[in-house]
Amino acid sequence: MKKLCAICGIRPGTTSDHIPPKGLYAKPYPMNMHTVPACSKCNQGGATADEIVKIMIGLSTGEARGDQSLVIESMQKTLAKNKKLRRKVFQSAERTFHHFNRAILSPAVAVRFDGKEYREVMTRIVRALYWVEKGSALGIAAKVTVDAFDQIEDPGQVALIQTVLNSTQPKHLNESTFVYRVVFDDAGNSIWGLMFFGAHLAIVSADAPAHFVADGLASAE
Ligand SMILES: [Zn+2]
Repeated sequence: MKKLCAICGIRPGTTSDHIPPKGLYAKPYPMNMHTVPACSKCNQGGATADEIVKIMIGLSTGEARGDQSLVIESMQKTLAKNKKLRRKVFQSAERTFHHFNRAILSPAVAVRFDGKEYREVMTRIVRALYWVEKGSALGIAAKVTVDAFDQIEDPGQVALIQTVLNSTQPKHLNESTFVYRVVFDDAGNSIWGLMFFGAHLAIVSADAPAHFVADGLASAE
């Protein structure tokens, strides 16, 4: 039997997609990077978004990482060869939030993690991980919302997310450069904590996939 794409769950999964995307990493890549089956459309669709998010995450985690100089070098290369990307990164930069590493930019500026590309990449990662956890695709109809943990302002919500996620075991991928936790409720909704390089945490919530809701209704009748 041919596998379906883990991301869309519709087309045949004829290629292997790296999760998290390879584009988020500086070389040398970790050994045995995690992959899921993906159709060529889902696999190739996110390359530009991956590059933008690599810069965003690199800027927020560079100082905490052992491979800091590699990360900086890789980001500089990416930015140097891509003017459009450079404009995009700097458009989303603000002076009031997360500090960039001064080695990269002076004066220090800041970035908000709420761009379209950030949401797109995190959503794709959660769709793939859902498939890893459940063996079937979340499906593109299920609503997914994305927040950078640092930017959630309601202290009650922060405490709730921490409590919920800390109740589960972390799962390590790619030599622990990426660690995630997930909690499913009885209705099939899920909350995900995605930790990049031990320094940047994204919180993603996903509604139950359509088939889960349909199954639930059928068995309740
Ligand atoms: Zn697909």
